[in-house]
Amino acid sequence: MTDQPHSHPADKAADEQREPDHEQQTAAAEGVVIDRSSHPISRRSIPENVLKVLYRLHRSGYRAYLCGGSVRDLLMNRTPKDFDLATDAHPTEVRRLFRNSRIIGRRFRLVHVIFQDQTVEVSTFRREPERAEDAENLLITDDNTFGSPLQDARRRDFTINALFYNIADFSVIDYIGGLEDMTAKRIRVIGDPDVRFREDPVRMMRAVEFASRLDFEIEPATREAIVRHRNEILKASPPRVSEEILELLRRGWSGDAIRLAVDVGLLEPLLPEVYNAIVNDRAPYFWKMLEVLDRTVASGRKISDAVSLSVLFLPWIVAELEAEEQRRDGRMRLGEVILFIRELTQPLCARMALSAGTRHHIEQTLETLWRLLEPPSERRAMFRFVYREPFNDALSLLELYALSSGKYVEQFRQWQSFATRVRRSAEEAPDAPVKRRRRKKKS
Ligand code: ATP
Ligand code: MG
Repeated sequence: MTDQPHSHPADKAADEQREPDHEQQTAAAEGVVIDRSSHPISRRSIPENVLKVLYRLHRSGYRAYLCGGSVRDLLMNRTPKDFDLATDAHPTEVRRLFRNSRIIGRRFRLVHVIFQDQTVEVSTFRREPERAEDAENLLITDDNTFGSPLQDARRRDFTINALFYNIADFSVIDYIGGLEDMTAKRIRVIGDPDVRFREDPVRMMRAVEFASRLDFEIEPATREAIVRHRNEILKASPPRVSEEILELLRRGWSGDAIRLAVDVGLLEPLLPEVYNAIVNDRAPYFWKMLEVLDRTVASGRKISDAVSLSVLFLPWIVAELEAEEQRRDGRMRLGEVILFIRELTQPLCARMALSAGTRHHIEQTLETLWRLLEPPSERRAMFRFVYREPFNDALSLLELYALSSGKYVEQFRQWQSFATRVRRSAEEAPDAPVKRRRRKKKS
């Protein structure tokens, strides 16, 4: 990484002024150590609170490493989503060092150090649990065994996620070859891909996520293993898988990610309904809709999970509705459509183990979308619509649908300008008294 062009000379100067006054810890056994002058990570890009925790651990005689996605992202000059720390201090020792901390988690115990506007997660180096030689079922149920930094690197999912940044000397430690894969833009699972994907099938989804998010290739052995074990994704816990699906939709790379999920065979077992609608070309605007969703998210607009998931479901719903109308030999009334949509989505949402709130939200958004397609003739009814809870989400969904399919563009424009006018007049007269008509008393 000597040729990394990212670091600014001023950053390096600032780093040099703040050399820690403690002795450097011994270089990592067996790991490649890349010293500060040969990588671009500057402490300026690490939040103050995270540095505080790192320094206190280090000054108390423990190893204190930044790990996981934060090291990966900082090396790529991206802003990390969160900063995870790894240490050889036991959770109880970490807890003792920070008054503002608490031990959390059942499956693996971590310490959260809580600051006013940020929580810093500290985990003790762990190793993979022992597995029986002939184990039929490799799924991990307990991975709370502490280990060395090398073992901790090895139990991680991909090589690019197993790098450490050592606060003792500001070096990067690479036990697994993550830097080489990062330079070559490769997602490579650590260890035997057949074992690693079977013991935690969610890793297959994570491979898809990182490849699309970073614009990396999944290297052949990793990819082939995903294809081989794709159906085992159904053994993973549904809420974890659904959270991964949502991550693909939320952050602006859904088009590439879903396409890759189709290519490696993961979408089919997960969402066969959606998969069939896509591959049988029953939803020609599906890809366009993801593209529009990604653009909208990238522009900084907040799109709710209910809308993102509705985008994923919509082409399949529309295809099913059309088929149903053909079967019935005529158009369905609004009430029938709403009932039909509920019957379609309820089992899917249950299978995905979505929270009751999200399910309700999706149902409301889709229902309101269909109501918007047939605007009420009375203005008063339209007013009521704008103030109803799912209106904004339904309008966003209608916008995405109209922009990608070319259908209902007029309805979208009408609703959008109506909503803008209603809101504007509400803003201009916020305190206007609401006139109530007095009811005539019955004599
Ligand atoms: P993000 O930027 O999305 O947070 P991340 O790589 O930090 O990406 P996290 O889910 O925050 O992902 O996990 C932190 C680290 O924990 C990962 O970088 C990886 O080293 C390890 N990890 C996460 N999930 C797994 C898993 N399923 N199997 C093995 N290691 C994992
Ligand atoms: Mg992370």
